[in-house]
Amino acid sequence: MPELPEIETFRRYLDHTSLRQKIRDVAVTRERILKGVSLRQLAGALKNHSFRKTERHGKYLAVDVGDGKQMVLHFGMTGCLHYVDPDDPDSRYARMIVTFDNGHRLDYDNKRMLGRVRLVDDFDDLIDELELGPDALEIGADAFDERLRSHGGAIKSTLMNQSLVAGLGNTYTDEILFQARIHPATPVDALNPADRKRIYRMMRKVLRKAIDVQGEPDRMPRSYLLPHRSDGAACPRGNGTVHRSRVAGRSAYYCPACQPRAGRKR
Ligand SMILES: [Zn+2]
Repeated sequence: MPELPEIETFRRYLDHTSLRQKIRDVAVTRERILKGVSLRQLAGALKNHSFRKTERHGKYLAVDVGDGKQMVLHFGMTGCLHYVDPDDPDSRYARMIVTFDNGHRLDYDNKRMLGRVRLVDDFDDLIDELELGPDALEIGADAFDERLRSHGGAIKSTLMNQSLVAGLGNTYTDEILFQARIHPATPVDALNPADRKRIYRMMRKVLRKAIDVQGEPDRMPRSYLLPHRSDGAACPRGNGTVHRSRVAGRSAYYCPACQPRAGRKR
């Protein structure tokens, strides 16, 4: 599932390929992906306009299309963007196809159709409506600490709660907790201030590193958990084996030797 680093990578890709080009046409192959907007309204807002600038909040990507409108993309469980040459076929799961005057196309690819395309007047209002917390890369240390303390439950599922901070999912929370040496099932109220500070620092470090490798977890440094994220793999610290277990209904990968359960000496 695309998380903050993947969406940031899509944002940069869109900036690099598609900004400031006149839009000739918009096609939607599955209207199910449209949320609160009809194809006619979307096409009206995009045709003869251009993508002016982009903004990301958590896992949402907003594209300014002029006239005070923003197209907002969410990618669901699977999804990506492809900039396609005029002679090339559209990507297999292209659900929205934006054609530019030069004949190139931007495909919004969404195999499982759990992503959504919206058209809004104000991205900040949508962020409020969706009850998203601050972006995980924007939030300051003190605000993070305060928000984290006010949430209950296991640390892994708490970090994945988009109303705490927006942008983290199953994959990168495993890495953050591995780096911070905290067991994923640790209750938030069992964390001490140093633990919370370490989680914050590791969240920033992991997200930045993941953006550097364009949101491809397997390309993370070999010393990280993600290239070894399978049950029984050797811990990259040479310290035990990677385990998989369920935490609050989600699978979590961690090293029990490096990330002992709360209550034991840490
Ligand atoms: Zn280990």
